[in-house]
Amino acid sequence: MKAGAGHRIRETGWLRAWRSDAVASAKQEQAMLADYGIASELLDRQAISALEPDIVPVYKTGLLHTETTSVDSPGAVVKAYALMFAGAGGEVRQAEIKAIMPAGDRWRVVLAGGEISARHVVVALGPWSADILRPLGYRVPLAFERGYHREFKPNPARSLRRPIYDIDGGFIMTPMEQGIRVTSGVELTDRDAPSSFAQLDQVVPLARGVAEFGDPVGEAWRGSRPTLPDSLPMIGPVPRHAGLWLAFGNQHIGFTTGPATGAAIAAMIGGTPPSYDVVPFAPGRYIS
Ligand SMILES: Cc1cc2nc3c(=O)[nH]c(=O)nc-3n(C[C@H](O)[C@H](O)[C@H](O)COP(=O)(O)OP(=O)(O)OC[C@H]3O[C@@H](n4cnc5c(N)ncnc54)[C@H](O)[C@@H]3O)c2cc1C
Repeated sequence: MKAGAGHRIRETGWLRAWRSDAVASAKQEQAMLADYGIASELLDRQAISALEPDIVPVYKTGLLHTETTSVDSPGAVVKAYALMFAGAGGEVRQAEIKAIMPAGDRWRVVLAGGEISARHVVVALGPWSADILRPLGYRVPLAFERGYHREFKPNPARSLRRPIYDIDGGFIMTPMEQGIRVTSGVELTDRDAPSSFAQLDQVVPLARGVAEFGDPVGEAWRGSRPTLPDSLPMIGPVPRHAGLWLAFGNQHIGFTTGPATGAAIAAMIGGTPPSYDVVPFAPGRYIS
C-alpha cells in the first residue's frame, strides 16, 4: 500500500485442486495447516465451481487457503518498492559487481565501472550470491531449483480469479497482468545449464484444458531459486569478516519473505534485535 502497488494485490486466496477424489489428502493438509494457524476451506466440485465459475469443472476436491494473497506482477511490485526507497532518500544504482574486498574497517565494492566504499555490505544476489563470496574463502552449498513459466492470452469466456495449483497435473496457473501464467515443476540442475522446456510442454495442454486460453504472450521464462540444504535462508553476518552480511537463500518464497529478510538485516546493522528469531538462519550453520 505504502509503495502505491496495493492495486496489484488480489485477496482471492490460493486454491490447491485435485482432479481425483482426494478428500482424505486434503483433510490431512488442512489439519497440518491448522497446526500453524493457517486457515483453509475444504471444497467439493460444486464449491469449486462457485469460486471459479468459468473454468472447465475438472477438479473434484479443493483446498482454498483463504488468507493467502497474490499479485498480478511481482516485477511491478518490486519496482514500486525501489521507487519508494528512492523517494525516502535512498539511491538505486545498477552496475555489475565484480568483487567485494575488505579495506581496513570498510569494504570496497568493485563495479564494472567504478567502485563504492562502505562500512557495511549486504550480499543479496539470489542464486549468484555464492560466487561473490568464494574469493573471500566462503564455500556456500547453494543449490538451484530452476523453474519455468509462460503466459497465454486469456479467454474472456473462461476467466480465472485466483492461482490454482493443479496437484495431479503438477503445475500452477494464475491470472497475471500479461495473461494466464502456467508454471513448470522444479528442475534440479546447474544454474546456467541450457533450458529444457520439457516440463512446460507437458503441462500447458493440461492447463489449456481448464482455462481454454489462447496463444502464448511473449517467450517462456526461466528462473533459479537459490536453495540451501535445509531450505532456510542465510540471514546475518558472515563468520570471519566484520561488516559483511548475507541475505539470500529464500528459495521458493523469496518474493514473499524478502522484505522480512531485509528488515532483519537492517535491524542487525543498526544494532537492534530483529523482530523475529534469526538464529535458525545464521550463515555459520554452513560456512566458517
Ligand atoms: C520459477 C520461480 C517461481 C517463483 N515463485 C515464487 C512465488 O510464487 N512466491 C515467492 O514468494 N517467490 C517465488 N519465487 C522465488 C523468488 O523469485 C526468489 O526467492 C527471489 O527472487 C529471491 O530474491 P533475491 O532478491 O534474493 O534474489 P533475485 O531476485 O534473484 O535478485 C538477485 C539480483 O542480483 C543480481 N546480481 C547477481 N549477481 C550480480 C552481480 N555480480 N552484480 C550485480 N548484480 C548482480 C541479479 O541480476 C538479480 O537481479 C520463485 C522463483 C522462481 C525461479
